[in-house]
Amino acid sequence: MSEIHAARQAALHAAMAAHGVPALLITNLPNIRWLTGFTGSAGVLVAGDVMTLVTDFRYAVQAPEEAGGAARVLIARRDVWRQVERVVSEQDIAELGIEAHMLTLRDESRLRNLLSAVLKPLTEVVETLRQVKDAHEVQAIRSAGALALDALSEVMPSIRSGERELDVAVRLEAALRSRGSEWHPFETIVASGPRAALPHARTSDRILNRGEFLLIDFGAKVSGYCSDITRTLVLGRADPLQREIYELVETAQRRAREQVHGGMTGREADALARDLIAQHGYGEAFGHSLGHGLGLEVHEAPRLAATSEAIVPAGAVVTIEPGIYLPGWGGVRIEDDVWLKPGGPELLTDGRTGLIELDV
Ligand code: ZN
Ligand code: ZN
Repeated sequence: MSEIHAARQAALHAAMAAHGVPALLITNLPNIRWLTGFTGSAGVLVAGDVMTLVTDFRYAVQAPEEAGGAARVLIARRDVWRQVERVVSEQDIAELGIEAHMLTLRDESRLRNLLSAVLKPLTEVVETLRQVKDAHEVQAIRSAGALALDALSEVMPSIRSGERELDVAVRLEAALRSRGSEWHPFETIVASGPRAALPHARTSDRILNRGEFLLIDFGAKVSGYCSDITRTLVLGRADPLQREIYELVETAQRRAREQVHGGMTGREADALARDLIAQHGYGEAFGHSLGHGLGLEVHEAPRLAATSEAIVPAGAVVTIEPGIYLPGWGGVRIEDDVWLKPGGPELLTDGRTGLIELDV
């Protein structure tokens, strides 16, 4: 087994002991990938004294190749849950933790009927461990960040007023893929003018106009790891209000990304940007949280949010993405990815966030 998977599985066993379960049924695929290297789209992992990956015939070749060093691989001929039952009885597992945040009610009742083991619902046992990234994971996110920003810098000079948001998204997504992004970690957002005031706008066929904001939220995937970046540009020259709002968000974002560190609560991290924005009267216009963890999934623990008292651990990779959104007018969001190194935060994206006025 690779050292990486051995260390992760050892951490899992310690966490299972702390939760008082001898075995955990893992159904969240990113968790399975993190523990074994398996990248398939179907499979369950019985993590007990023996790690057993149960998947189906589509992965009969791929699963042993990817995960054979880190787990015993069984190919269920017909029914994955019946195979799980055999593994549980063969290992005499009397109590089995389940991922209550992932398993459907239907599968849970199926398991209750099949297994004699007592099921113990647990939440985010593996996700909690995944918060802290090792050097390989940080490097993958850094590469995904560099790739994404390189794609944007190719596309930016070609943006013209009169074209659609979709046209920009198509060129950006092509540039991401041609540079080797495995897939888009989320739907690329290209939002112009008043649509930039919608924090989760869908890219539309709206025509870009001179004098408006253009908000682009995008990312790349490298070795399974995501980057997540937002840049807000001005099409043409910024007017005084655009400049004022942009500079306020930029200052708040810089402050947060330079001061965020492991050991803070999610609320304390969120306040680094929120307090400044609120002092300037735009607290109501910053309606989402400061950021989120980033890794195999684009949204993972920890949360940097006013409602989170959980500790943000050193070693996490998080986004820092404050925004100000004024309905009918537009909005600004600036997002970079930061590694909370034990000694202090390290930016994984370029952080070149000065106002850009595009010649369109
Ligand atoms: Zn984003
Ligand atoms: Zn984000």
